[in-house]
Amino acid sequence: MLKYDTWEEQEHDFPFPSDSETKGAMEVLQWAYDYYGDELVYACSFGIEGSVLVDLISKVKPDARVVFLDTGLHFKETYEVIEKAKEKYPSLNIEMKKPALSVAEQAGEHGDELWKRNPNLCCQIRKVIPLEETLSGASAWLSGLRREQSETRRNTQYVNKDNRFKSIKICPLIHWTYKDIWRYAHKHSLPYNTLHDQGYPSIGCQPCTLPADWASGDARSGRWSGQGKTECGLHQ
Ligand code: SF4
Repeated sequence: MLKYDTWEEQEHDFPFPSDSETKGAMEVLQWAYDYYGDELVYACSFGIEGSVLVDLISKVKPDARVVFLDTGLHFKETYEVIEKAKEKYPSLNIEMKKPALSVAEQAGEHGDELWKRNPNLCCQIRKVIPLEETLSGASAWLSGLRREQSETRRNTQYVNKDNRFKSIKICPLIHWTYKDIWRYAHKHSLPYNTLHDQGYPSIGCQPCTLPADWASGDARSGRWSGQGKTECGLHQ
């Protein structure tokens, strides 16, 4: 169920750029929940964009469904911020979606530390298939992608056809800069992943995430560093 076939149609409803504090995000969220209602799910990684988007969502739909893809391999700081979010937003439905195989079962079937030898298969098992299962019961999903994050995200629109998951992907934060995100997070005293204070602008699973190489100018340079991989397969 896609309302927009062209970018021009989206521009009509969401003038670029909105001059509100949230750069169009609240307008997009309001439209998205009006249009999709309970059929809309937010797949949240609980990085700083996640902290901001959860807060914005809570103002539009306090009982929204928020799903965290719990690979079982996340940093303890990530689990800590999820617990803080559950306390701050008790009416949100925050789900921990786990893969079919535990980490030990995956090691039994595919060998130890699959992420070192075949990270694409590991992401497929622990992230992509669980998101497929999550989206099988939803019409659309929300993501905190920002255009500034990387070259591969430069053309992201508010409303995107998602051929990979045969769904609609809605990205309210596309016009936000990293400074915008932090300004909002501090202004509203949001809980956030403390790894951000230790040089990690982008946070995924512990075995595949290092502090960023700021000299590269790529905030995602610490993800799968040296493995020739830049995305987990959720965003194409
Ligand atoms: Fe596996 Fe790394 Fe992907 Fe996490 S990010 S699912 S550990 S390959």
